Amino acid sequence: MLYVGGKWVEEGEVAVHPEDRGYNFGDGIYEVVRIYKGKMYQWDAHLTRLFRSAREIKMELPWTADELSTLAQQLLEKNNITKDVDATLYLQVSRGISPRVHDIPEKTEPVLMAFARPKARPLADMKKGMTAQLIEDIRWLRCDIKTLNLLGAVLVKQYAKDAGAQDSILHRNGIVTECSSANVFAVKNGALYTHQADNMILHGITRQVVIDLAKENGIPVHEEAFTTDFLKQADEVFLTSTTAEIMPLVSVDGQPVGTGAVGPLSLKLQELFEQHINESVLV
Ligand code: PLP
Repeated sequence: MLYVGGKWVEEGEVAVHPEDRGYNFGDGIYEVVRIYKGKMYQWDAHLTRLFRSAREIKMELPWTADELSTLAQQLLEKNNITKDVDATLYLQVSRGISPRVHDIPEKTEPVLMAFARPKARPLADMKKGMTAQLIEDIRWLRCDIKTLNLLGAVLVKQYAKDAGAQDSILHRNGIVTECSSANVFAVKNGALYTHQADNMILHGITRQVVIDLAKENGIPVHEEAFTTDFLKQADEVFLTSTTAEIMPLVSVDGQPVGTGAVGPLSLKLQELFEQHINESVLV
């Protein structure tokens, strides 16, 4: 069952209004939340980011954090996401329905749509690593907003696939920003490097968990921009996201990263992340 515009409906019953601004303009925001063993992971951080995204696009959400939490919990129950099931919960808010004009209508009612589906963890890829291609970052200048408008991300991912790689690492004039749907970290001499959390990247929740875990375990972290050359000479590279977790990249632009195998710091962080998940599922 899905939740759409205030109603519980089956998938086949969902109707999108032709003048829904999310549909016409990508005028809306979203979150993808990880469910481990039937429990929401980092839910509060997702809520905080959702409310921030709303503020940044001048949209007032008519729901409280508690109402959204109740709704999310109901969604899991109605879809049998029980304590053995790993899943994702998708939640989007369109600005609402109005005659198609670009400027923001004075009064629209945001339309909330949410669904949850079982989704296995990408454990095999996490073990063997993935490949990536450097691609120019053609997206807009507010990548910190988790907007429905994802055509830039769609295209850069496809450009990478067309070049024979599994994902894209994006750069603006040689400065690495992030991936099409993940943040990126480079490892050099035992320290982590990742782009600072500004308007050029999404402030990833997994990124922040990894930074915190690294710091707690004495691994130096530099939140600063680095170049594509630095990335190519890194000892290890990995990406982070809600669904990819900590995903090592073993080749960039067809060249091996470091030794070409998943590196020791990536493995260590995966281990710490695993512990973190297990602890949060027990709470
Ligand atoms: N960067 C972009 C562009 C993304 O789309 C995503 C996730 O969808 C991320 C980073 C990772 O964010 P999170 O760890 O919150 O899933």
